[in-house]
Amino acid sequence: MNNKYVLSLDQGTTSSRAILFNHDGKVAACAQREITQFYPEPGWVEQDPEEIWRAQVSVAREVIELASIHPTQIVSIGIANQRETIVLWDKESGKPVYRAIVWQCRRSAEICEELREKGLEGVFRDKTGLRLDPYFSGTKLSWLFRQRPELLQKAERGELLFGTVDSWLIWKLTGLHETDITNASRTLLLNIHEQNWDEELLSILGIPPQILPELFQCSDDFGYTKSEIFGIPIPITGVAGDQQASLFGHACFYPGMAKNTYGTGCFSLLNTGEKPLASPNNLLSTIAWKRRGQIVYALEGSVFIGGSVIQWLRDSLRFFSAASDSESLAKTVENSEDVFFVPAFVGLGAPYWDPNARGAMYGLTRGTTLAHIVRAALESIAYQSQDLFACMGSEGNQEILTIKADGGATNNRLLMQFQADISGIPVIVPENAEITALGAAFFAGLHCGFWDGLKDLEKLWKARETFEPAISPQERNALMQKWHNAIRTTRDYAK
Ligand code: ADP
Repeated sequence: MNNKYVLSLDQGTTSSRAILFNHDGKVAACAQREITQFYPEPGWVEQDPEEIWRAQVSVAREVIELASIHPTQIVSIGIANQRETIVLWDKESGKPVYRAIVWQCRRSAEICEELREKGLEGVFRDKTGLRLDPYFSGTKLSWLFRQRPELLQKAERGELLFGTVDSWLIWKLTGLHETDITNASRTLLLNIHEQNWDEELLSILGIPPQILPELFQCSDDFGYTKSEIFGIPIPITGVAGDQQASLFGHACFYPGMAKNTYGTGCFSLLNTGEKPLASPNNLLSTIAWKRRGQIVYALEGSVFIGGSVIQWLRDSLRFFSAASDSESLAKTVENSEDVFFVPAFVGLGAPYWDPNARGAMYGLTRGTTLAHIVRAALESIAYQSQDLFACMGSEGNQEILTIKADGGATNNRLLMQFQADISGIPVIVPENAEITALGAAFFAGLHCGFWDGLKDLEKLWKARETFEPAISPQERNALMQKWHNAIRTTRDYAK
C-alpha cells in the first residue's frame, strides 16, 4: 500500500478541493479552487453547477500532477460535499436547467411558512428529523417548479434529473444518477427511519419521484469514473455530506462522541448510535452514515456566525488585517472584563431558532478597548457552541466526554482554551487539518479494502493538542449566566 492513495474530492461552499491521502492517512497533495457565488436578490445564493464541476475536475487532475503519481496508484475516490444545495439537469443533454440553489439561500421561506400554516411541520419533523426551513433542499425544489412550470412538466415526463452536489459530481464522473443516504437525509424528502424517499412528503412538495437519484450507503459501489477523465476508470466507493464526513474523519465512531467544526459557522454533531433521537430543543436528527447495512444517527446543531464574526471585525470594522491577529490582540487583555458580544447578524440558530434577533454588545465601559471586544467576539463562538453541546448532552442522554475540533478557527489557541473552560470538557484538535476530506477518504478506503476496519482508522486520527478546562464550575456557571442574560436581552430587543 506504500505507493497507493485515496483521492478525496471535498466540494465545499466556497471552494472545490482535492486531496490525496496515503495509507497513513497523511496528505500527499492538495489543490483548491474557489467557486463564484451569485447573489441575484437579497437573501438568495446561487452557484454555477458547470463551474463546480470544472473546478472539481481540475483540482483532481492538479493533485495527481502535484504528487507526481500515475492514476493507477489511486485505489478509489471519496466525495464529501456542501449539503442541501440543489442541482436540476436535463437527462439527455446533461446540462443544468437552472443555477445551483445553495443551502444558504432563503428564497423558499414563504413556502416553508405556508406548509407550517397548514400544520405540516410535525409530519416533516417526524419523518425527516429536520425543520421546515429554507435551508433544506425540498422547498428549494418546490420553489423552482412553481416558478418554472415547464420544468415541472419535463420532470413529470422523466426528462430531468435532480440531485444534491454529490449526485451532480457522480453523474459527471460516471454517468450514473446516485446519491448517498447522508446527503439524502438533508433534502426533506427522505424518511430517515425507513431510509427511503417518502411518497407523502414528495406529494406535499409537488416533486415527481422519477427525478430522484438512487440511494446508496456511504461506503458503497458508486461506479467507475469515465476513462476520459483520468485516463483510466477509477472506482468511487465513498460519499457523504461534509459534516457527516467530518464526524467520521474525527473517528467519532461510537455513541457519545462529538465533533465541532469552527469555520464560517460552527457545526456540531453527536453520534447517537442506531436510533434517531427526536429533539425537543430543535436540534436536528440526521443520518450520520450507513455502511455494511448498518445505520448510525446523529444529533446536529449549528451556529450561523462562528469564525465569520472575526471576518466581520477584520473586513467591516478593520480591527486587524488577518484573522490570526485576533488571538494576539485578545491576549493583550486578561479577560473580556464582562463585555459580551452576541453575533446574531442573521438571527440565532439552535437552540434558539430566532430569525429576528440581531447582533449586540453589552457591558461596554470607558475602559473597554478593541482587545476586549475582539476577546468577547472569540468567546461568543465558544458560548454559542456550548449552548449546542448542552442541548446535545441533555437530549442525547449522553455525557459528552470530549469535543474533537476542526476548521479554520481551531488555529486560535485562545478560543480553543476558552471552549474547554466554558464547556468543562477537553477540546482536542487533530494533527490533520483536512478532517472532512479524510472522512470521505475513510468511507472510500474502507469499502475498497485500503483500510481494514474502524480500529485501523482510529490509529490514524492523532491529536495535535488537547485543551483541558482550567476554570472552576462556579466561574463557568457565572459566565454562562451572563451569556444567557445577553441572549435574552438581545431577543427581547428584536420583539
Ligand atoms: P469554511 O470551511 O467555512 O470556509 P474555514 O474552516 O476555512 O471555513 O475557516 C475560516 C473561518 O475561520 C473564517 O471565518 C475565519 O474568520 C476564521 N478563522 C481563521 N483563522 C482564525 C483564527 N486564527 N482565529 C479566529 N478565527 C479564525
